[in-house]
Amino acid sequence: MLADMHMHTHFSTDSHADMNEMVEQSIRAGIPSICFTDHIDWEFPEEGVVFDFDIHEYEKAIQEARARYGKDIQIGMGVELGMQPQLVCPYMKLLEEHPFDFVIGSMHLVNGRDPYYPEAFAGRSDREVYRDYLEGTLENIKAFHGFDSLGHLDYVVRYGQHKAEEYSYEAFSDVIDEILKQLVKDGKGLEINTAGLRKGLGFPNPHPQVMKRFRELGGEIVTVGSDSHKPYSIGYDFDKAKDILLECGFSYYTQFRERKPDFIKI
Ligand SMILES: [Zn+2]
Ligand SMILES: [Zn+2]
Repeated sequence: MLADMHMHTHFSTDSHADMNEMVEQSIRAGIPSICFTDHIDWEFPEEGVVFDFDIHEYEKAIQEARARYGKDIQIGMGVELGMQPQLVCPYMKLLEEHPFDFVIGSMHLVNGRDPYYPEAFAGRSDREVYRDYLEGTLENIKAFHGFDSLGHLDYVVRYGQHKAEEYSYEAFSDVIDEILKQLVKDGKGLEINTAGLRKGLGFPNPHPQVMKRFRELGGEIVTVGSDSHKPYSIGYDFDKAKDILLECGFSYYTQFRERKPDFIKI
């Protein structure tokens, strides 16, 4: 089984998962290595929604899990940062202060709204919102270089009114290519996130054509994540992710420890 480099626990506002249960399920699923990537999404614009947690408590919980399960599985301490242009400096400071193994940079907003809420699409076509989301992603990764892998690149499509009907790599190839080239230039990774499959999109995020294009443009670092917020979905459809990576021309995927990539043969 591939390493699962993206999962959440109760330290994330949108999860109630117990860390030990997440680890035990990972061991049962035969996963050799996992990384917790709980949400920090400062200045989240939705009323009453705060994505933040006590990192010292988090570190303590992860150390306890390592002491308990370390002989059976490798456990990383990561974080999923919700990118916004004004957060570049505060996030860089946060990353200097804490010894994370792995940092996912994610876009959870489009035009200042969370696309999870239908209001983000009000009066607009999916195509327009998708373009805004991708352009926002490009703007953010040009400004913020503190992450290791870009999370769920076409995430917004999960929440579109007609999902993937108005989405394809070709329809957005101009902006998607810009994003991929920026990642390659900066030596950043791209995540294949299987929650798209789990949520009925029919493909992981990003679409396999985007992964393929990343490889064509010289991309070498790919991380794999289930984005689980509950134990049952750990390692979800990882066999499919593995096939997609091989078909896209990748022979290695990547695991991060102490912010350094470790290439593992697929
Ligand atoms: Zn995310
Ligand atoms: Zn996540």
